[in-house]
Amino acid sequence: MTYQPSPTRYQNMPYRRCGKSGLKLPAMSLGLWHNFGYINNFENSRKLIQTAFDHGITHFDLANNYGPPPGTAEEVFGRILKQDFNGYRDEMIISSKAGYTMWDGPYGDWGSKKYLVSSLDQSLKRMQLDYVDIFYHHRPDPETPLEETMAALDLIVRQGKALYVGLSNYSAGETLKAINILNGLGTPCLIHQPKYSMFERWVEGGLLDVLEQNGIGCIPFSPLAQGLLTDKYLHGIPQDSRVATSGVFLNEQHLTSEKLDKIKRLNELAFSRNQKLAHMALSWILKDDRITTVLIGASKPEQIKDSLEALKNTKFSQEEIATINEILA
Ligand code: NDP
Repeated sequence: MTYQPSPTRYQNMPYRRCGKSGLKLPAMSLGLWHNFGYINNFENSRKLIQTAFDHGITHFDLANNYGPPPGTAEEVFGRILKQDFNGYRDEMIISSKAGYTMWDGPYGDWGSKKYLVSSLDQSLKRMQLDYVDIFYHHRPDPETPLEETMAALDLIVRQGKALYVGLSNYSAGETLKAINILNGLGTPCLIHQPKYSMFERWVEGGLLDVLEQNGIGCIPFSPLAQGLLTDKYLHGIPQDSRVATSGVFLNEQHLTSEKLDKIKRLNELAFSRNQKLAHMALSWILKDDRITTVLIGASKPEQIKDSLEALKNTKFSQEEIATINEILA
């Protein structure tokens, strides 16, 4: 069936400025790490992108290695763009990354100029795009000089293959060094993509301050801790959950009794705020002005609509914050 984007798609989504840049991102963005590989149902993947776009989610986050198999999320996304979004490229912010293992040999991993430049060329072919909006170095490389990795990002922008560059999984100290190098090159860092959720709060120990002081945006990934911060695991493991269907990055061992107890208590607090736990987990991240957009994943289109409910209440009382800190302690 031919897809027509909803004419009301921009009515409810807030767009937040990314650091001190000219770019605004939707308060919620969609990532394609899971549910977009060749192993997944293409019609479902297609419906996920359509549902997101129909609700004002203009930002789609990919990486060279998303699938499985690696690379296929970009191919599937390219097919969806061609099929459904012809004429809408300028309404979309598309990102990709390189930094983790992608192909055999010494040039398919980490942070050399050789790897980054050729990986982005491959990504563009898979997505059938001329350029990405944001290109990230996916993780710091302890062996390649940071100057080389940042020069590769600068080169990619000058070649017109990316409009902006970002960093992911860099510590506060590494980020500051990279920011300074990029500023010197004339290609400022746009955004940082760290793991951040109620269960993973390392960014509060310095990274968010570095980003704020340098006018850089922040797009936290796995804000629902891959689905743990929802009510789905409170009564066992549903057959269609990530623990049951994927099991690679999230498995039964993550569901300790201590964690389940926290989830239960957080769920009760969410209920008292008239939210579901998933909503509270997302709004808890968005309460901080230093956050540009929260990067969700979804296995079903209904989950995207459900998660968007979080945008209706991103304010927390002092008591609620204190209770959350006490539960998470
Ligand atoms: P989340 O923490 O949002 O987890 C998403 C999963 O939670 C879904 O696939 C679904 O799992 C479940 N879920 C989502 N919404 C709901 C809901 N409303 N109610 C109940 N369950 C829900 O994020 P991800 O871990 O998927 O990561 C998001 C994105 O972040 C990735 O796609 C990627 O773009 C990026 N990322 C970046 C990394 C990096 O190193 N830079 C690393 C990892 C991710 P299910 O239904 O299957 O149980």
